[in-house]
Amino acid sequence: LRERICEITDMSNLSPRPPVVTVLGHVDHGKTTLLDAIRQTNVVDTEAGGITQRIGAYQVEVDGRKITFLDTPGHEAFTAMRARGAQVTDLAVLVVAADDGVMPQTREAIDHARAAKVPILVAMNKIDKPNANPELLKQQLADVGLVVEDWGGDVICVPISAKFRRGIGDLLENILLVTEVAELRANPNCPAVGTVVEGKVDRNKGVIATVLVQNGTLRVGDMIVIDTIYGRVRAMFDDKGQPIKEATPATPAAVLGLSEVPPVGEVFEVFESEREARAKVEERLAARQATTTQTAPVKALTLDDIVSQIKAGKVKELNLVLKADVQGSLEPIIKSLEQLGNEDLRVHILHYGIGQISESDVMLAAASQAIVIGFAVDPDNAARRLAEQQGVDVRRYDVIYTLIEEMDLALRGLLEPVYKETVLGRAEVRAVFRIPKLGRVAGCYVTEGTISRDARVRVLRAGQKIFEGVVHSLKRFTEDVKEVQAGFECGVGLDNFGDFQEKDVLEFYKKERVTA
Ligand code: GDP
Repeated sequence: LRERICEITDMSNLSPRPPVVTVLGHVDHGKTTLLDAIRQTNVVDTEAGGITQRIGAYQVEVDGRKITFLDTPGHEAFTAMRARGAQVTDLAVLVVAADDGVMPQTREAIDHARAAKVPILVAMNKIDKPNANPELLKQQLADVGLVVEDWGGDVICVPISAKFRRGIGDLLENILLVTEVAELRANPNCPAVGTVVEGKVDRNKGVIATVLVQNGTLRVGDMIVIDTIYGRVRAMFDDKGQPIKEATPATPAAVLGLSEVPPVGEVFEVFESEREARAKVEERLAARQATTTQTAPVKALTLDDIVSQIKAGKVKELNLVLKADVQGSLEPIIKSLEQLGNEDLRVHILHYGIGQISESDVMLAAASQAIVIGFAVDPDNAARRLAEQQGVDVRRYDVIYTLIEEMDLALRGLLEPVYKETVLGRAEVRAVFRIPKLGRVAGCYVTEGTISRDARVRVLRAGQKIFEGVVHSLKRFTEDVKEVQAGFECGVGLDNFGDFQEKDVLEFYKKERVTA
């Protein structure tokens, strides 16, 4: 998408486009209330009764200028989109409750926005509360590197009460002010490209995908391709549920006509004809078959990949997400890491914190080509699964010296990886079922060893590997289980693979890195 947008060399074709804004912040600080407040106080279309439909994004108008809001608040959604390769946001509005101050997820949100290089504007919420403490909040913001204007910094901070609809106009004005400087432009006169921001199935209308046009104009009748899904735009609706014929840059549109629900964060493109669209999809499917292993659009990097890139002189930073058990260990680790490398090559800590490694940590690493380091902490189950899926390198250390030494070797391009593979068990496919929501599942009989939900899997057909990936579900009858031993039957679903045949063999294995 970026390439397509950058192709526009003729600047005279470009017109200003509205900014696209995401709302981030700690839970319960008022993100949803704020999005509702903005929607309600700025409805332009009175004909539609002032009721907006939730389609995943909406647009408001302030003094004739438009702003597009993504309606899925929170940095998890924001970074998940980025991990798929989508960069749609021009500005992050950080909602912080003035009675609660900077909380762990506020810090997370800041780090996620910074990793994405998206500017931040602070909405100081809940100023109606008697215990609101704006000055303390400004102090806390300064401590995390956001120095507000009246403290001599350049971060705009707007006091608001989302609940009582106070300061909303001021906030919108400031959003326009900040984004104006960026001179956001796009070319409305070319075939549309953009990103999927929401996808769902409606009982009456079928698949509805909300897309955000980022360049060009999307029209009813256009042939669109999203990854391996394609279809003709049968109808389009705006955020008021009104039918529209076209959508220009930064305009969200709910599109009907696709055969399947596309993944959020995936890029869409318009093709001249159905023939071209089909050719593109077939090309992608063939490429996927050829590699068998699935790769996310933005390829996650392992430490070993980074080491080889450092050797090749291709990267200048080793991006890390760091979690530790206690504050006491976090500080010396950060200090030592900052001293590694030289001017050309250094460690960049995107985010650090205390506690288990979470899904959001892994997502940030996936989106920013970082690796995750746990000092005396492990990932939780959801984070472990996501790391497997996205190919994110998650490492645990228990000795500070070892951690620092390995990062030092990595920076110097000296770390040589050694892997050991252990086959845990094998299962034979005896029947194939189609299960709603899960897709195709293999009914298996475990022939040897113990198969595990956390393992990696190879699908072997007549002794040949046809797929390699991770387990999506493992069930005994209807129950989710962690392991199944030889001599038992089970149902196995894999991520991104459903093409099982009877007699296929599923080989479950673990790949472990052993210290060089
Ligand atoms: P989110 O988790 O960030 O989306 O937070 P919500 O928007 O769900 O708000 C959490 C709670 O804070 C709700 O009970 C809101 O009514 C309340 N709230 C949100 N904004 C304000 C505000 O400006 N003032 C007060 N007093 N309460 C608010």
